[in-house]
Amino acid sequence: MTLKFFPNQYFTCISCGKCCGAWEIPVTQDEKDKIEKLNIPGHAPGKNKYFTGSRNAQGIYLIGKKGGQCVFLDSNNLCLIHKHHGENAKPLACRTYPLDIFNWQDDVTSASFRYDCPAVASQNGRKISALAKDISSIAKELSRKRKFATAEYNRKLKPSLKNMRIIAAAYKNFILDTRFRPSMRIFAAAKLLDFHSEPENSSDITEAGDCFSRDAIELVKRSIPALESIISEAGKPNFHQRMVFRYILSGFIRSDEESAFKFLPVARLSRVKSILKFSLGAGSLGQISRHLPDTSCIDPMESAEGMEWDENAFDIYWNYLGSKLDSLHFCGYPCLNLSFEEGMQHLLITYPVLAHFSALLAKSDKRKKINGKDVSKALSFIDHTFSRSPFFAIRHVRKMTKSLCSENAMAQILKPLP
Ligand code: SF4
Repeated sequence: MTLKFFPNQYFTCISCGKCCGAWEIPVTQDEKDKIEKLNIPGHAPGKNKYFTGSRNAQGIYLIGKKGGQCVFLDSNNLCLIHKHHGENAKPLACRTYPLDIFNWQDDVTSASFRYDCPAVASQNGRKISALAKDISSIAKELSRKRKFATAEYNRKLKPSLKNMRIIAAAYKNFILDTRFRPSMRIFAAAKLLDFHSEPENSSDITEAGDCFSRDAIELVKRSIPALESIISEAGKPNFHQRMVFRYILSGFIRSDEESAFKFLPVARLSRVKSILKFSLGAGSLGQISRHLPDTSCIDPMESAEGMEWDENAFDIYWNYLGSKLDSLHFCGYPCLNLSFEEGMQHLLITYPVLAHFSALLAKSDKRKKINGKDVSKALSFIDHTFSRSPFFAIRHVRKMTKSLCSENAMAQILKPLP
């Protein structure tokens, strides 16, 4: 197996306890049986009260919660299983977080960090390469339990995974190229995706080889003046586009685990109402997630107008995109079965979503300047749902994402952004 990951990703656990909080932790029957036999202080072995059956998959259990935290977490946010029986006694899901690890059909193991972990989002700690041995060992375990990942370019084109890695690497090369301004890199990527969706250009995809990246960069470089003028001449998004953008933004923010009451019809109805209100421009981030500030009175689509940006505010975001593109963790079986094309659109839309979301955070704090902390907070929310929330696999949502990546809509959305 070849191990693939983007090198500029960092992590050292700061024991904040977030991952042991509201999120559901899946445990197999085997893991449950083993944990129940362990001698854990404060937890009598043999009692079956620390797990609940999962509604979604047979044979899968969820670790119980007490006061919103994992029952095995002590008062110092340390895992009692780990403390008394070592790392390997923990369920696989706990040992893997904050990594996403997938074994692919082309003999590649891919790994990327999850930016919803505060340690990862702070960009401090050990480089991901320091975990190469652990990643390989978890990947080995996963290869016995989970099917191998694969992806297709779109419903018609099915190049090899090797070709798709070449194409993803080409996107990475110019998206991370700091010679171009951020909006331009995203706009150029959306245009390139569009270019390759034309049947007459499909051979570029099916025959993608060593020259693909060089040709793509050349095409982007040549197109910059034309792309700049498309953005500068773009009008304001119309009512429908604004509503769609806000709806997609709300999809990135929603954290279903956080609403423990989510199965109560009244609570669900009020959630739908908050999302609709937000989509119409009258709602607030705080009504969608209790971890976000009240932003009522600020239209999400107007939030970036007149704001300034710290020079390095987006640094973390380029590493984030690099981590997704190097691992292909934006498409295929690991990622809601989105095609490469749909996954790229899903990935590209994170830039305006992140920028407007960060601007909303800064504005709610009465600041005129958006800094790296706003961006990493917004990113930690976005990556929690990115290619994980089933919302993004719904047909009408995929269509909406695609429509926002069209030339006209994308240019209009990017216009107020750096
Ligand atoms: S969320 Fe990240 S930093 Fe916090 S306890 Fe979990 S792994 Fe450690």
